[in-house]
Amino acid sequence: MIPAAKSSQRQQSPAEPSAQELRQRLPRVSVRGLQVSYDGNLAHSVLDDVDLELFPGEMVALLGSSGSGKSTLMKSLTGFAPISSGSVRVAGHDVCNLQRGELRTLRSEVGQVFQQFNLIGRLSVLNNVLTGALHRAGAINLVGGFSSAHRRRAMELLDRVGIAHKAKEPARSLSGGQQQRVAIARALMQEPELILADEPVASLDPKLADSVLTLLREIAIEDGIPVLVSLHVLPLALQHSDRIVGLKDGKMMLSGPCNELEPAALAALYEKDTDHELH
Ligand code: ADP
Ligand code: MG
Repeated sequence: MIPAAKSSQRQQSPAEPSAQELRQRLPRVSVRGLQVSYDGNLAHSVLDDVDLELFPGEMVALLGSSGSGKSTLMKSLTGFAPISSGSVRVAGHDVCNLQRGELRTLRSEVGQVFQQFNLIGRLSVLNNVLTGALHRAGAINLVGGFSSAHRRRAMELLDRVGIAHKAKEPARSLSGGQQQRVAIARALMQEPELILADEPVASLDPKLADSVLTLLREIAIEDGIPVLVSLHVLPLALQHSDRIVGLKDGKMMLSGPCNELEPAALAALYEKDTDHELH
């Protein structure tokens, strides 16, 4: 039995983590034994036995050549991929067994950034960011327009990503790097639990790619959210992420902190399968 004096000391200890701190230590995403097959035939699985954990505050690069399953893994986290088996938990949701209406909530809690930015070109930059608020508010909000609080928040976010001066311009008039910053601000407008960035720098030149990835990593750290970013350029992954998860033909080939990965294992990710070449 613990003596009373000792237990009260424990309660008062400043080292005792708060509920918020404890929450930050739990994985926000937990994937186990994930198998995905688009045609329902397990022999045609595009993801096979994939495990993944993402923790608040970390930037994880998903690496693999085209067709290796990166986008499918991201889609699995938001219920857009046909999961054959395994378990997928995202921000407290059991993605394989969502209750009624829960899918919409899940998607509202995941900020997404895409290679082609997916902005509405004719709308102003500010309005594009505001659309991020629609995920949570729903259609009702469209009736009265956006609140001044939403507008203020959208402007703050544009300031944060460095393009507040473009707020009134149509999104299509911005450069690629600027458009991706708008897309990031839009994702933040959702107050996301997780950010998924699918090839966010594939359409940008190296300097802009660097700055966009730097911004995403800052967001992961400052906002304490996990950012999963798919890339196919190894040096960018090594420079900008905490961990790398490597996929090849739908299988997880490697997973670990950047400084612990074997160069040979990284190179093997991109090696062609000789069996395939022979047939
Ligand atoms: P990556 O993002 O790494 O390029 P994808 O996840 O897009 O890989 O694709 C993985 C595999 O799944 C590929 O063989 C691709 O052709 C297939 N695939 C992707 N989406 C679909 C789909 N909607 N229907 C059928 N097959 C698909
Ligand atoms: Mg892809």
